[in-house]
Amino acid sequence: MKFRRTNLVKPRAICCILIFMAAFSVRATDDPITKLAQDTRCARGLEWIDANSRWVTDQQILLTEIPAPIFDEGKRGDALKGILQSMGFKVRVDKAGNVAGERPGSEENSVILLAAHLDTVFPADTDVRVKRRDGKLEAPGISDNGAGLAALVGLARALSESRIRTSKTIVLAGDVGEEGEGNLRGIRSLVETYGSRLTAVIAVDGPSTEHITIQGIASRRIEVSITGLGGHSWSDFGMPNPITALSRGIVQFSAIRIPEDPRTTFNFGVIEGGNSVNSIPAKATVKVDLRSEQESELNRMESALRSAMQAGVKEESSASSGRNQSLKLDFLSLGTRPAGTLPDGSALVQAIRDADRYLGNRSRLERSSTDANIPLSLNIPAVAIGGGGRGGGSHTLSEWYDPTGRELGLKRLFLTTLSLAGVQR
Ligand SMILES: [Zn+2]
Repeated sequence: MKFRRTNLVKPRAICCILIFMAAFSVRATDDPITKLAQDTRCARGLEWIDANSRWVTDQQILLTEIPAPIFDEGKRGDALKGILQSMGFKVRVDKAGNVAGERPGSEENSVILLAAHLDTVFPADTDVRVKRRDGKLEAPGISDNGAGLAALVGLARALSESRIRTSKTIVLAGDVGEEGEGNLRGIRSLVETYGSRLTAVIAVDGPSTEHITIQGIASRRIEVSITGLGGHSWSDFGMPNPITALSRGIVQFSAIRIPEDPRTTFNFGVIEGGNSVNSIPAKATVKVDLRSEQESELNRMESALRSAMQAGVKEESSASSGRNQSLKLDFLSLGTRPAGTLPDGSALVQAIRDADRYLGNRSRLERSSTDANIPLSLNIPAVAIGGGGRGGGSHTLSEWYDPTGRELGLKRLFLTTLSLAGVQR
């Protein structure tokens, strides 16, 4: 009896397991991202990524070692153009200096744009040679945005190795003017060119795969300058001093109330003025960066800055010893970045989330000021994400990048791009 019962139970158990497995595998192949990854052409691209991380790092070094200060990105752009052309992309350089490689899909009126900025914050004479130390790469710009540019090149190569055809056209662009006073001129020009054909924009910036930037922080950059006649420190003592007036204004502004919500910040980043220690300066300037999650808060900050500087000038003038001299105050806009937010439930975020789920990657939603600000402000779906690996020391001479795990970032970009672009049979 015992024996027979076991005999009866066993086939039934096996049956259950088989039914369960069959149900599970049906569910697995029903999952669009799993289905996509299992497509032989897509699998070829993913395998290429796994086997060629070193090649991608070599491209990163090559591009990072070409200086690309803001407004002088041409040489680095030319190198990127050559790389994209060698993979069969049709490459265009627009009037702003953006390098855009197109991979046409069957629908030429639907475009997915991936953009990595070419420019760095470093002047042309900065030593940008890449040094290897303990498996890490060190050089100004290696991470921001060497990591993004390398990811763009890796994605281009994985797409061409996969030989996959897509419905939407994929445009991979190295864009100019993202940093500082570039005022996002590159992405503005790309968005203008592709206009209503854009269905999604992905800014690839830095290495991190732990975030998806879905909100663009608004910012304004302003140069404040104060000019006077200047004079001798001894014989003209008592004349209003532009440096002192500027300092008074800075102190006044720094005392204003800054809300935590909406998060709002300010920074006096560069101050200049004067010629010698024993001269009253004729001019002093300061560059200010104002940021907020809300445009209205930025308006309040800007008018507070104007009032504080006017008060600084007034205070300095009345403190000077009655000499009939006035100071001149000027404000110059160095750039504005509009705010924008990607709505909840957007297909773009869903595509990244699906890729993350498939790859076992965890990421959080974030706010920042990036190239994505421009499309977001025009209600074009846009995010900023990183290209893979790890990095740090952005905007400093000790910037570093560790390529370990860059495959994850590349696969994330590859799967996201293909699921947005739609694969053709
Ligand atoms: Zn950057």
